[in-house]
Parts: sequence; C-alpha cells; structure tokens
Amino acid sequence: MHVSVIGTGIVGVCAAAWLQREGHRVTFVDPREPGEACSFGNAGSLSPSACLPVGMPGLWKQVPRWLRDPLGPLTVRWGYLPRAWPWLAQFLRHSSRGEVERIAGALRALLAPIFDCYAPLLQRAGAEHLVRRAGCLYVYSSRQAAARWAWGMNLRRSLGVELRDVGEDELLALEPDLVRAQGRFRFGLLAPENGSTPDPSALVKALHAQCLRDGAAQVREAVAGFDLADGGTPARTGGAVRRLRLLGGGSLDVDGVVVAAGAWSAPLARALGARVPLQTQRGYHVTVYSSNLALRHTVMAVEDNLMVNPMAMGLRLAGSVEFAGLAAPPRYERADVLLAKGRQLFPHLDASRTSRWMGHRPCLPDSLPVIGRAPAAANAWLAFGHGHVGMCAAASTGREVAALVGGRAPQIDLHPFRPERFGLLGRFGAA
Ligand SMILES: Cc1cc2nc3c(=O)[nH]c(=O)nc-3n(C[C@H](O)[C@H](O)[C@H](O)COP(=O)(O)OP(=O)(O)OC[C@H]3O[C@@H](n4cnc5c(N)ncnc54)[C@H](O)[C@@H]3O)c2cc1C
Repeated sequence: MHVSVIGTGIVGVCAAAWLQREGHRVTFVDPREPGEACSFGNAGSLSPSACLPVGMPGLWKQVPRWLRDPLGPLTVRWGYLPRAWPWLAQFLRHSSRGEVERIAGALRALLAPIFDCYAPLLQRAGAEHLVRRAGCLYVYSSRQAAARWAWGMNLRRSLGVELRDVGEDELLALEPDLVRAQGRFRFGLLAPENGSTPDPSALVKALHAQCLRDGAAQVREAVAGFDLADGGTPARTGGAVRRLRLLGGGSLDVDGVVVAAGAWSAPLARALGARVPLQTQRGYHVTVYSSNLALRHTVMAVEDNLMVNPMAMGLRLAGSVEFAGLAAPPRYERADVLLAKGRQLFPHLDASRTSRWMGHRPCLPDSLPVIGRAPAAANAWLAFGHGHVGMCAAASTGREVAALVGGRAPQIDLHPFRPERFGLLGRFGAA
C-alpha cells in the first residue's frame, strides 16, 4: 500500500519505519522538519517502568493548588479553565485505584518491549548510539519520604518492573554528583532496565532520514482533511480515504493513512469519525550547556517533580504540566523554576549557558494513547496521544500500527487504546 503518515514526530517516524519493514510505500506529510515539535525537547527518558498514569489516587486534593500557583508543577491558567475542565473531570475520574491499576497494566504492555521494537530501526539507521541503557534512578530525601510513593512503585513491581532499593552509600557510589547535593538525597530506587536518548530530536531525524533512504517521500504541508473516492468525507459517509486535502490547496492520493500528528491530531481524528478529548499538557525544559555535572543515569527527583538527564548537548532539566491550550505563548518562568530547582538540588551546577523550551504533550484523560483503526474509514489508523511517554512508546506503537495496517493481529491487547473508548465524553475537553 501507499500509506501517508501525517506527522514526523517520533510516533509518525517509528510507524513509517515499521510500515516500510512490511513492504509499504510511505509518504510523510508535515510542514515542520522532523523531530521539531514535542519530540524535540523532551527529557529523552526511555522507560519501560513509566507505566503509571499521570492521574494517581488522591490527586483531586491538589486541584485548588493547581489554580492558585501559576508556577507550580501542575497548573491551569485561569482563562483556559472553561476549555480544560471537562478534560480535568475525566482525568480525575480515571485516577481511582482500580482505574490506575487497569491503565498501568495496559501501558506496561506497550512499554515492556520498547527496546526490542527500537532495535531493528536503530540498527538499520546506524543510530544505535542514540539509545543507551544506563538505568534510571528515582531519588528521595529519605526512605520515609519514598514511602509516600510506595503504592505506585509496588504496582510497577507487580507488573514486572525491576526496581532495586539503593541506600545512601550505594546511591553516592552510583552518582558521585549526588554527594555534592548537600545530603539532599539519601535513598533511591534503581530501574536498571530503563534507558534514554542523548538527543531526542537527533533520534527522530536519524530514523526519518533512513525512511527517506528506504524510499519514503516527504510533503512539507499540513493536512486539512480527507476525501473518499467520490469526493465525500469519511466522517459523514464512511468508506475508504482516497485523498488527503492539503492546507495549501493541493491534494495527495493514498491507499491508506496513519494520523500521528501529536497534540494537533484531534481535528484529523474527528474527520475520520473519532471524537477524542485530546489536550496539551505543556511541558518545559532548561538545557544547561556548560554543565559540570557528570551524571551517568537519568535521575528523577521525585519530590521535586524534576527529571534530570545527561544529554549530548548538556544537562537537561525537564518537567512541569501547564494547561493553557495550543495557542498561548510559553510562560518561560516555568522553565526558570526548573532551573532554580536544579540549582537547589545541585548547588555546584554551572548554569552560565542555558536554553529554555516549551512543548505540547499530546494527552488523553486516561493517560493512554489512541492506537487503532479510525471508526469512519477502513484504511485510516490513529496513533497519537502518548502524553509523557511518547519517546518510550513510539517504536512499540509503530510495530502495532504496522500489524493493523497489514491486517494482522497485534502483539499486545489494543482494546484499552481504541479510539472509540471515550464515547460521548469524547466530544468535550479537546484543546
Ligand atoms: C518537558 C517534556 C518532557 C518529556 N519527557 C519525555 C521523556 O522523558 N520520555 C518520553 O517518552 N516522553 C517524554 N515527553 C513526551 C514526548 O515528548 C511526547 O509524547 C512525544 O514527543 C510525542 O510525539 P509525537 O510524534 O506524537 O508528536 P510531535 O513530536 O509533537 O509531532 C507531531 C507532528 O505532527 C505535525 N502535525 C501537526 N498537525 C499536522 C497536520 N495537520 N498535518 C501534518 N502534520 C501535522 C507537527 O508539525 C509535528 O511535527 C516529554 C514531553 C515534554 C513536553
């Protein structure tokens, strides 16, 4: 088939690479350079352990704080509240213990095979150096402090995630820079199976370049809609997509289409019969170029909601969740907060040269992506909404999408990810 992949973020590029492995011809459509949207500036963590949803039990107690503190770890801009609240209500509904257990099981199935799913793509692209397996350290001020997160950590363990207790001495041996953090960290949990990429954007670009070498074409335009053979639209009449309508006025004939447009996917999905409450959780990073820290692991300072990852270009401090929609300008004070936290945790951090960034995490209220066939078109598939784990789950998503396109049974149960799962609620809360 000639399959058009809409979106050249990590999800679209991995889907394309897997489609090519099965003999399909691919045309990418995206006005941006590959790996320049959310896949550009994330924390780069590749974590089979990251199977907990964002909405955890008891979260509702924090709602008043979200509204009061514009620079807190999770915030909703007042002006955006009317748009966000239907999404937030669904999000809280999915944060019960039962829901969290269900969601974690589904996410773990998608995350457990991530390195196996990346491996053939990296090998073909000669990009093995862009994924490393150094493990992730979750660090805490004390063993007692870590107990607050014990339920979630035990849930991860029950799903097969390896997490090893690390006492103060071993912690300091593993990461000498934590010694200099003035005794801030006294306990840790090591997830040895985790990995990371030293440059998320370079990873996307390397896989995309290999797709082009393997015959893919690239159209630098935005997709505006879909036509059936008779010129009708799928959401009205059903059938099969035969043509993409491009924003610039042109069109592209296709045999099939995969929507992987990240946080911008909701209108495209709607045109294909799927109403999904896709929001953007805007996240920020600071990259410290002249970092004099030599971390070996990805470090997650759990109490501070801060992920610290040593990267090719410097040390990246990332985190923060802001609900303010797709159009509002970044509020870079939020990135400054991340840097201030980093300085608190590592007082010797040399932050003389830094850059700041904001990106749109594509998020559904149950913290699960949408992976499945579009309800109104027999030859359109949806793959978006990977939230906080898009870098992790892109390659396994790509493998599953290729199976669906090829008419084969997927390797994991995709029922929890089906596009129709929001029912009528899918009409409310999209960005
Ligand atoms: C601060 C931060 C830290 C993060 N840390 C991690 C982490 O450590 N590990 C992890 O796994 N994930 C992390 N994430 C999440 C991860 O970055 C995202 O889940 C992932 O990048 C989403 O990839 P994507 O391909 O779906 O979307 P994107 O990378 O946003 O790509 C979407 C593409 O679709 C294109 N597009 C949009 N509309 C159209 C259209 N109409 N026509 C054609 N093209 C279109 C866009 O131009 C864009 O290129 C983090 C995110 C943030 C913000």
